[in-house]
Amino acid sequence: KIKQIAIYGKGGIGKSTTTSNISAALSTLGYKVMQFGCDPKSDSTNTLRQGKYIPTVLDTLRDKPNVKAQEVIFTGFNGIFCVEAGGPAPGVGCAGRGITTAVQLFKQQHVFEDLDLDYVIFDVLGDVVCGGFAVPIREGIAEHVFTVSSSDFMAVYAANNLFNGIKKYSNAGGALLGGVIANSINQPYAKDIIDDFVKQTKTQVVEYVPRSVTVTQSELQGKTTIEAAPNSAQAQVYLSLAKKIAAHEVSKVPEPLTVSELREWAAKWADHLLALETGTIEGAKAG
Ligand code: ATP
Ligand code: MG
Repeated sequence: KIKQIAIYGKGGIGKSTTTSNISAALSTLGYKVMQFGCDPKSDSTNTLRQGKYIPTVLDTLRDKPNVKAQEVIFTGFNGIFCVEAGGPAPGVGCAGRGITTAVQLFKQQHVFEDLDLDYVIFDVLGDVVCGGFAVPIREGIAEHVFTVSSSDFMAVYAANNLFNGIKKYSNAGGALLGGVIANSINQPYAKDIIDDFVKQTKTQVVEYVPRSVTVTQSELQGKTTIEAAPNSAQAQVYLSLAKKIAAHEVSKVPEPLTVSELREWAAKWADHLLALETGTIEGAKAG
């Protein structure tokens, strides 16, 4: 049975990098994978295709109304199917329309079934800022949602917003939360912060991914770390993450904090980091 996963997270947090490495890792494990980029920037699948862009579903449809789904599906590393939904020109129309349109097209043409896929991974966007970006959750297109977050407050804030969105649609057959992919976790305090956040919101960390120059090098080569540096420690982290996602069965409704609760929570951590810094309490120093 096909497993559909959506990855959300604050802008620039590492969604596309993480998603592409998950796709690459799953495909090396022998699964048939489609990566579906939902960002109007249409750069989700770049590192699966040597840094090259592919025509988007929306652009292709604009030129040619009767597009066959096969015309907007491209193959990347290890046979991964790559799709970019695309979006309107900046400042014109709803940015979420690409997802809605592309998903509709694929459903009409039974693409997900016909390709005999094991995984479809949607690389979505930061906050669920408009209805379009809630489509994978709301329409039950994805079954499991994962969010990429660092320990930075704004990343946690965006994750908490996403939890609100998931909770809202959870009674109507919406996708539920698989957990948090903690990215750029290099300091003990960063792990402590994200651990505390998932505890407060009744979810879990799926994997701790360090910030690594191997990722930077791979990206500069137009590749995922799984492709460019398969024997690196970072590739092992992505492989472990992919295996956990493959084994993941039951997603849940998170319990988001209110804005004031989140503020209080942050203030408590601010005090804690300051105490670490000044040596009032024992522990690894911040920074
Ligand atoms: P957007 O919201 O713009 O789509 P995104 O969340 O998809 O952004 P990415 O494009 O994946 O973010 O990552 C942003 C930058 O951070 C990239 O240059 C990427 O290589 C880098 N990056 C992400 N994760 C890591 C990591 N663990 N180690 C090193 N660099 C990373
Ligand atoms: Mg991205």
